[in-house]
Amino acid sequence: MLLAISGVAILGLVFVAALWAGKESDAAALDHQRKLVNGRLQDQVDRVSKDMRLMAAGFSSLLSENAVVADGGNDNSTAEAFATVATTAFGYNGTYLVTSTGELALEADAETARRYKWIRPLLLPMIRQADLKGPGQSETNPERIHVALMKLEGRPSIAGVTKVTASIEANGARTRLAQPLYLAAFRFLDGATLDALSREQGLAGARYARTADAEANEVAFQIEATATNEPIGFIIWAPDLPGSRVVARLVPLLSVAGLLIGGLFFALMARLRKSLQELGRSEDHARHLSYHDVLTGLPNRALFAERFQHCLDTLDASSGYAIVALIDLDRFKEINDTYGHPAGDELLRSVVIRLSPLFGERDMLARVGGDEFALLLPPGSAAGRALPELWEEVVSELAKPFNLRNGDIVVRIGGSIGAVTVNDRTLARSEYLRRADLALYEAKSHGRGRCVEYHEYLDTRNVEKDNLTQDLRLLLGSASDSVTQEPKGELEVFFQSVHLASDEMPLSGAEALVRWRHPHLGLLTPDMFIPIAEEAGLIDQLGEWVLRTAAIRAASWPLGITLAVNVSPSQVRRRGFGDRVLSIIKEAGLSPSRLELELTEAALFNLDHGAQETLAILRAHGIRIALDDFGTGFSSLSHLIQFNIDRIKIDRSFVSLLGSQAEGAAIVSSIIGLSRTLGKTTTAEGIETQGQRDFLIAAGCTDLQGFYFSRPMAGVDFDRIIARNEDGNTRAAHTG
Ligand code: C2E
Ligand code: CA
Ligand code: CA
Repeated sequence: MLLAISGVAILGLVFVAALWAGKESDAAALDHQRKLVNGRLQDQVDRVSKDMRLMAAGFSSLLSENAVVADGGNDNSTAEAFATVATTAFGYNGTYLVTSTGELALEADAETARRYKWIRPLLLPMIRQADLKGPGQSETNPERIHVALMKLEGRPSIAGVTKVTASIEANGARTRLAQPLYLAAFRFLDGATLDALSREQGLAGARYARTADAEANEVAFQIEATATNEPIGFIIWAPDLPGSRVVARLVPLLSVAGLLIGGLFFALMARLRKSLQELGRSEDHARHLSYHDVLTGLPNRALFAERFQHCLDTLDASSGYAIVALIDLDRFKEINDTYGHPAGDELLRSVVIRLSPLFGERDMLARVGGDEFALLLPPGSAAGRALPELWEEVVSELAKPFNLRNGDIVVRIGGSIGAVTVNDRTLARSEYLRRADLALYEAKSHGRGRCVEYHEYLDTRNVEKDNLTQDLRLLLGSASDSVTQEPKGELEVFFQSVHLASDEMPLSGAEALVRWRHPHLGLLTPDMFIPIAEEAGLIDQLGEWVLRTAAIRAASWPLGITLAVNVSPSQVRRRGFGDRVLSIIKEAGLSPSRLELELTEAALFNLDHGAQETLAILRAHGIRIALDDFGTGFSSLSHLIQFNIDRIKIDRSFVSLLGSQAEGAAIVSSIIGLSRTLGKTTTAEGIETQGQRDFLIAAGCTDLQGFYFSRPMAGVDFDRIIARNEDGNTRAAHTG
């Protein structure tokens, strides 16, 4: 820029300087030419003056030889001679010999007389002056020649008048002329004179004009009458202006240079602008990238944090409160693992497309993790909007099935929300996020597909959870010291009976369900501590303890009664799981054919080769595998076939629909039908009514379980049931 500006400035300076120099030199040249013209005119005047003297002298002698003139005699030969001398030798346009009154002294032809008649009044004053000593006439001009510029016959002329001093010799004595005579002559300035002038002085095309009608490129030089100072005409010529010539030559050069510099400048500017734009674009792009998630185009964690912080900083009593929520997709990982990352990506984009319209322009939905989103509703944004309704909308949108790969796959995911009200500037951003996270965790651990808003009790509960974890760790740590010892006696295994779906509905087995008799909290159900054990990495120990305890008891039961034990997903994945199971039941004295392991679909998900092998080995030993809670997870047929599942346990949520909703019957029937087709046995869980029981028997279910038959009970209580059952059987056998 600086370069271009200085270039242009220098060029401009050069241009201005050239113009100025040109103008100055033009002025000088013009002045010079004017002076020349003036000088030339003066030369003419001087020449006339000189000519007059010569002519007067010549004429004097002529007159002296022809004394006849003296008495005014008519001598044409003299006049002719005189005229010839004047016109040919001196180049005058008119020469007259006149008397002091201006009369022609010699007899002239009619033409000359006519011409003179016009000229006479103009010459008369000069004749009169010729006698006097004019201001321009000094002693060096004793002849008293009077020369003047004037207009004669309408043309600029130089006229001269001088007294002819002649003496005539007669009779040997010189006598003066009887009367004084004057020589008057004139020459036109234009025509030949002007031609000569222009030729000699280099005044291109000089011409005479009556008026100063000069063209644009010409100058006019005014010729003034000597006597009156009136303009008698103009010499007009195209002046030679070297400055203009130089400028005229410089202009194209400078223009080309200017154009070049200008072009260069613009090219440079364009280039600069382009690269600046590119830089700006790539900067914008980089900024966008650093603040946005590439996959969904949503703001990322960094931008969310920035906006959240800003929102927190500007929070005051008048602005109200903001809302921050964490939205977590349920089962996203499973879909990603089953159908591959492209499907997972597509799912995430679909989620964003569905959720975005639910929020306002000022709200910010950001992607802060793989399947985790964060929502910021700034103060005023949530106003007028019932938050529970918004959360419900989000949850219901996420619960609707998603079509992936152009409808080839239909998946259901669902989502959980943890929300927190932001109304206290003194709390840190991280604290709010922790609270939202806690609320989210609460939502997820309570069946997912819901929103939980943070409340202080969650923190209290969290503390309780920490305490429980601590207690459980102590409990199981002491248990592992001695394999046979009950862990402080607080943990207990309950049993719930399972019955054959036949007329008599005989007892066919029992499901082991763990309980914790907590010294302060009372009897805890597994839902309250199994997730804690899983999270704390204590589930293997707990699971093994349950298996061992249950197996030891079941070993004492009649051979026909089977034992079902629940297995957590992480247990199955643990190396050596199969060996541990086999060794535990061997130690307990329970035949493998009497054991059934209940796994959820989550446990079967993405099992590595080793774990699959383990399941196969366990099955080879006669242990059966049941798919628990069927219908709540993936319900994928491929799992049933791939892992050679022996039994399907229809989830209690479907059984509970029986009798209340028509579609419940259809779902349950179809699951049983499917199970039979695949050659699996089926257990229906959660039977609470006779109607449910009857429907399931009719539908072809193989086993039945639920409060209708018995609640889970302590081992000793269950032993009594077994004993009673035995008694009944033996009585029946006896009576039968
Ligand atoms: P689950 O495997 O589906 O076990 C059946 C649950 O349904 C039991 O709850 C049982 O009490 C309940 N139940 C049975 N019949 C009825 C009925 O007619 N109506 C109703 N409303 N409920 C019925 P529980 O004992 O609270 O166990 C809950 C879950 O905890 C179990 O669900 C199981 O997934 C898990 N669990 C229990 N014991 C263990 C264990 O030793 N290891 C592992 N990993 N999980 C366990
Ligand atoms: Ca179970
Ligand atoms: Ca179940």
